[in-house]
Amino acid sequence: MAYQAEYIWIDGHEPTPLLRSKTKVLADEVTEPPIWGFDGSSTQQATGDKSDCVLRPTFVCPDPIRGGRNILVMCEVLLASTMRAHPTNTRAACARVEKKFKDDEMIFGLEQEYTMMRPDGSPLGFPAGGGQPAPQGPYYCGVGTGRVVGREIVEEHTQACIDAGLSISGTNAEVMPGQWEFQIGPLGPTAVGDQMYVARWLLHRIAEDYDVVISFDAKPMKGDWNGAGCHTNFSTIAMRENYKAITAACEAIGKNYMMLVENYGDGIADRLTGQHETAPWNKFSFGVSDRGASIRIPWQVEKDGKGYAEDRRPNANCDPYTVTQLITETVCSAAAKGSKKR
Ligand code: ADP
Ligand code: MN
Ligand code: MN
Ligand code: MN
Repeated sequence: MAYQAEYIWIDGHEPTPLLRSKTKVLADEVTEPPIWGFDGSSTQQATGDKSDCVLRPTFVCPDPIRGGRNILVMCEVLLASTMRAHPTNTRAACARVEKKFKDDEMIFGLEQEYTMMRPDGSPLGFPAGGGQPAPQGPYYCGVGTGRVVGREIVEEHTQACIDAGLSISGTNAEVMPGQWEFQIGPLGPTAVGDQMYVARWLLHRIAEDYDVVISFDAKPMKGDWNGAGCHTNFSTIAMRENYKAITAACEAIGKNYMMLVENYGDGIADRLTGQHETAPWNKFSFGVSDRGASIRIPWQVEKDGKGYAEDRRPNANCDPYTVTQLITETVCSAAAKGSKKR
């Protein structure tokens, strides 16, 4: 019997790209989704006279929404003229860096925060038609009416990620009402990006059925409300074995902190104010257990003398391929220089 493949890709919308997808019906005997294409002039990826862009599958998983033999197909975008990476394709550079530093075995766990909105742009949990709920305090990891809202979407999304075979490692309600988090990983630099985009797509798709908009905006509500981030936990094999490698990684990032933060998502200065569990965007610091630092080393990691570190700066609206590429490049090239000196 024929079955459906949902091809997902990242468009050219600025400043933050949007996810797009369309369906290809595959004949019974087709076992691998083929290369496909789309009209780039409708996605800010091409002009009308040279509109064709190519979709190359990078990650395929069961479609938990349609079920059966149906699949989701995460794709990268190529230029039809050369079959090389389109300028909007950040995955290609990430894959190159992963390959270059493959001996360091870098892995990532991403904590994706997001906000559920009504179609009019007000967050769930805020009074409809304007006004403010009670101040932050009872909402983080809350239970019960008036403390959390939208749990039915979270439940459905988490099960969908599991059914799709994604490496989802947990979820929690966040500090601002209507705000939630899920985590993907630990996985390699490119794979964590592939799976994060599929997980984001599933969230948008499931929320459609509830008439809820998923926002990855970094600071959806001005004022005394937490922003939404994408804390990025990372480790090389050396970091998983000794503590010195962890402080060395933090120091390497410290030397390049502006280059990284400029690529961590749109509106980062609005979120990284130094308030609401953030460090100021233009100042670098790292510390054990410090949620006001740019990079936090978890207390358990200090105790064990090995493990990983958490770059708390990436925004919820970051591009995971760019974030993992830059951290891998920064940490692994500093480690390579360090070992040459010795
Ligand atoms: P937080 O305490 O900051 O809320 P979470 O539990 O939400 O942390 O997320 C931690 C993430 O770090 C998870 O995705 C987990 O898989 C990931 N992680 C755990 N160990 C490592 C490691 N050694 N390297 C990279 N990521 C890791
Ligand atoms: Mn978390
Ligand atoms: Mn969080
Ligand atoms: Mn965190």
